[in-house]
Amino acid sequence: MALLVVKDMTKQFGGLRAVDSLNLQIEEGQIFGLIGPNGAGKSTAFNCIAGLFPPTAGEITFDGKNINGSKPWDLCKQGLARTFQIVKPFGSKSVLYNVTVGSFATTNSRSEAEAKALKVLEYLNFADKKDILAANLTIADRKRLEIAKALATEPKLLLLDEVMAGLRPNEVDEMVEILKNLRNRGITIFVIEHIMRAIMALSDRIVVIQFGKKIAEGTPDEIANNEKVIKAYLGE
Ligand code: ADP
Ligand code: MG
Repeated sequence: MALLVVKDMTKQFGGLRAVDSLNLQIEEGQIFGLIGPNGAGKSTAFNCIAGLFPPTAGEITFDGKNINGSKPWDLCKQGLARTFQIVKPFGSKSVLYNVTVGSFATTNSRSEAEAKALKVLEYLNFADKKDILAANLTIADRKRLEIAKALATEPKLLLLDEVMAGLRPNEVDEMVEILKNLRNRGITIFVIEHIMRAIMALSDRIVVIQFGKKIAEGTPDEIANNEKVIKAYLGE
């Protein structure tokens, strides 16, 4: 079943069409990649889907429901969570506190929320850092915290915006394994990533956008050999 359907989605900022009639469909259980040069409109597409702002035109369907104009917190409760390219944790609060905020999407009980947050941290091999203030984390651990916060909302669909940027090669490999494990646990993942090696290793299917428009779609092999895609990246 299609978990997310994006139909003719456009987002206009004044005269700039950041996303231009985008169509895509993500099946349950897939890892779906979104790539494209800087400024192509990837984060804007995520912002529309995750409810930061509504699209100017088009239709977004999640889990069979039209979600145009739904707010991020409501979408979280429906099972759609995202991370941000620019991470913004509560720096003066602990890792556990930050993740517990996410758990409140699924429960109103403080103790239950905290227990769920701890489980997520354990799952991500992160529990040993639960008492560290978010501001004191390394880049890699801030990315992990972003994912933990999103996972704590118990998503069906997880939107990840460049969670591997700034990571060392071994940390990228570790992140690829974490994401594959999440998929194996039944979470559908929609990932924006600049690190080609990672996106190619992860994705079942990839959409490439440039100037807001889809220029290619296919398996990692098809995308790697697509001339339009190669041209778009060489021109960067
Ligand atoms: P990507 O994530 O692919 O690098 P973005 O979606 O961030 O690209 O940006 C696409 C285009 O939209 C860029 O030209 C960017 O400057 C513009 N843009 C993004 N967000 C806004 C905004 N909130 N207001 C105005 N322009 C924006
Ligand atoms: Mg971006």
